[in-house]
Amino acid sequence: MILAIAGLIISCGGDAEKKEDKKDKVKIGAKKTPKASNTNAVNIAIAGNDLMQYDKKELSVKAGEEVTLTLRHTGKIDKKIMGHNFVLLKQGTSIPDFAAKAAAAGESKDWIPEGDKVIAYTKMIGGGETTSITFAAPAVGTYDFICSFPGHSGLMKGTFTVK
Ligand code: ZN
Repeated sequence: MILAIAGLIISCGGDAEKKEDKKDKVKIGAKKTPKASNTNAVNIAIAGNDLMQYDKKELSVKAGEEVTLTLRHTGKIDKKIMGHNFVLLKQGTSIPDFAAKAAAAGESKDWIPEGDKVIAYTKMIGGGETTSITFAAPAVGTYDFICSFPGHSGLMKGTFTVK
């Protein structure tokens, strides 16, 4: 009888501890996402691989949103050989012209030419790396995005729509 009671107390104590653990985890999780209350904030993600491909050809956000875009390089190749970035171009920008200027700008400029043709861009990353940027969604419309690493924009391009 005494043993049974002791066992009951121990098991109750165990349950209480588990519940405490859960509470702590929830608190920690909440602290990590302070922007969750901002209804204008949106997170989008895109990945690039060693085959010079994005995993998405279309991205879409709403006007007025604060966009946090995360770019992930799912490959293994170094950024000097298979670098990827995300460059959101202003409307009316020719992709071939921009890509040529990016190639001329060179690695020291992270393959981003001088000028005002860009709405937002991430840094260039290599295999296994991740980067993100936060920017205000531009006006309603359709925009092109590319990877500006030399030779990549032919395959690595897509449409960014603001609704
Ligand atoms: Zn690339």
